[in-house]
Amino acid sequence: MEIFEERTVVQNILPPAKTKAEHQSDFDLFLNHFKLILEHQEIILNTPKYFQILLERFHVGTSITGIAYIPLGVLLLLWRDEELICQCPECNGNSYIFQAGGSLLSGDHRYTAICPECKRCFCGRASSFGEIYSPICSILKKYPNTETILKRRTTTFSWGQGLVGKPTPDEVIDSGIPTIEFKSLIKLLDKALEGRG
Ligand SMILES: [Zn+2]
Repeated sequence: MEIFEERTVVQNILPPAKTKAEHQSDFDLFLNHFKLILEHQEIILNTPKYFQILLERFHVGTSITGIAYIPLGVLLLLWRDEELICQCPECNGNSYIFQAGGSLLSGDHRYTAICPECKRCFCGRASSFGEIYSPICSILKKYPNTETILKRRTTTFSWGQGLVGKPTPDEVIDSGIPTIEFKSLIKLLDKALEGRG
């Protein structure tokens, strides 16, 4: 078949497609095992297939820039550098921001954080969006996970025959860094804890 046009597209990998209930179940695991994740952060930081895990709720965005998903490893690096940390309104303990959004027009910037002691999430307001956005972006671009897709257009129009040729499906040339399911990571960390104790 004659190939008329080819182009490669590089795009960021998105969180796995799941139902609302599945996303919620991942998030509940995050909430209930957050201390376990912090305790085992070295394993996650040193293992790309754990580092690059994305949850639907790990993101930052504005109406202008759109949403950027933040891998678990990037969040851990930020928290280790004492970025994206705030105080829990209940116990006053350190809490960890994992989601933020703002409107550059209205100047209303909000975040969601998790308190490991209270095992709860809460929302807060940031004084400026840059306070949250700048540290995330500077670390995020050091750890990209992208897929490369070859798109081929193999049909063409002919006055005599109309549309000629069959469309060819996209081909994934490079699928990026593979990750494991979040629930599998929690199981592994649980086992690591048992093994130690
Ligand atoms: Zn608390």
